[in-house]
Amino acid sequence: MGLLVQKFGGTSVADPERIAAVARRVRDSRQRGDQVIVVVSAMAGETDRLLSLANEIVKNPKGRELDVLLSTGEQVTIALLVLALQALDVRARSLTGSQVRITTDAAHNKARITNIDTKRINTALSEGEVVVVAGFQGMSESGDITTLGRGGSDTTAVAIAAALKADECQIYTDVDGVYTTDPRLVADARRLDRITYEEMLEMASLGAKVLQIRSVEFASKYRVALRVLSSFEDGPGTLITSEENIMEEALLSGVTLNRDEAKLTMLGVPDRPGVASTILGPVAEANIEVDMIVQNVGDDGTTDFTFTVHRNDFDTTISILEKISAELGARAIEGDNKIAKISVVGVGMRSHAGIASRMFAALANESINIQMISTSEIKISVVVDEKYSELGVRTLHSEFQLEHA
Ligand code: ADP
Ligand code: ASP
Ligand code: MG
Repeated sequence: MGLLVQKFGGTSVADPERIAAVARRVRDSRQRGDQVIVVVSAMAGETDRLLSLANEIVKNPKGRELDVLLSTGEQVTIALLVLALQALDVRARSLTGSQVRITTDAAHNKARITNIDTKRINTALSEGEVVVVAGFQGMSESGDITTLGRGGSDTTAVAIAAALKADECQIYTDVDGVYTTDPRLVADARRLDRITYEEMLEMASLGAKVLQIRSVEFASKYRVALRVLSSFEDGPGTLITSEENIMEEALLSGVTLNRDEAKLTMLGVPDRPGVASTILGPVAEANIEVDMIVQNVGDDGTTDFTFTVHRNDFDTTISILEKISAELGARAIEGDNKIAKISVVGVGMRSHAGIASRMFAALANESINIQMISTSEIKISVVVDEKYSELGVRTLHSEFQLEHA
């Protein structure tokens, strides 16, 4: 008998039939003798629907009231799922984030979990109930409803698994595991049996939206055995685990695509100390995160300073640069929000040289020009024109033969 946290995403609870199917899956786990805490997302499309409603009232809604609104999606699903479980004679109880006492900081719309009170869950479990918790939501110290950022139900599930020291945290979704790349992009993408926390963290950060980044951070920090599985078919899924649990190390584990970034360049800035901080200081003050940075020094003593930000921050960043451009004596500002970042990820890179040159040669072979490059110990990212997104991903996936185990 084990203690399991099972999380079901939006498509897995999209309509009453699917909710009934989830209830049957949970019942089967109970019949095998497991104790189960279920975490659910809002029904597919519901969070987007609520967001666009708010958008009809104000442009770019945010803050406290947006969280009051968005958290309703998950509250609907917990009630429906408990009704479905009760219809199967499974004893169950729904709990919202604040009923559990999932405490977060006060950063509305992107709050971080700071504590989970396990009392109420443990009491219900010891009374033989399945506990169904609303994902994506918590409560700040001052008692306000908060949400954890898009995809945040994954993080609710992993955080509960960590707090309860569950045997496994199972993320049920619409694919049967983590693939070498998004299976919707490359038909011969291959399901991975296992992947390290570190690689999964890079993949999630670089654009693989199958798990929210923070859920992987939590899992890694608290060593939660995390598994991604299909809610529609049975199978082993993908286990996300520590490196010592992985026998055969592949060279690379995946290719990711991120179309969420935009590129900005300040041309002809005098090459002198302090320039980078003069440019990036005001950007940071506006709470805008900078990802890649490149600086080229020309022979006329000026430099071109290029960096990327989230596409949503593109316009704001341009206007910040316009303000400081005169002060810096820059020649011009260029912006491009039609870029894509393609990355290859794998712990095998630590012990194998030559991956970067193979990557660049494969892209060159397809006449894909590389605009920026960044590397870490286990990943290489390039920025290319957005129109090469799919071709680039497919080219690298086959160059490194990721379709074969
Ligand atoms: P849920 O609603 O269950 O949380 P998500 O849509 O958040 O599901 O995540 C599942 C989706 O992630 C898949 O449908 C798939 O298109 C996408 N995805 C992106 N990269 C990968 C990858 N490397 N492996 C598996 N799925 C991926
Ligand atoms: N319902 C939220 C979203 O759509 C949280 C989640 O699904 O994980 O982002
Ligand atoms: Mg998700």
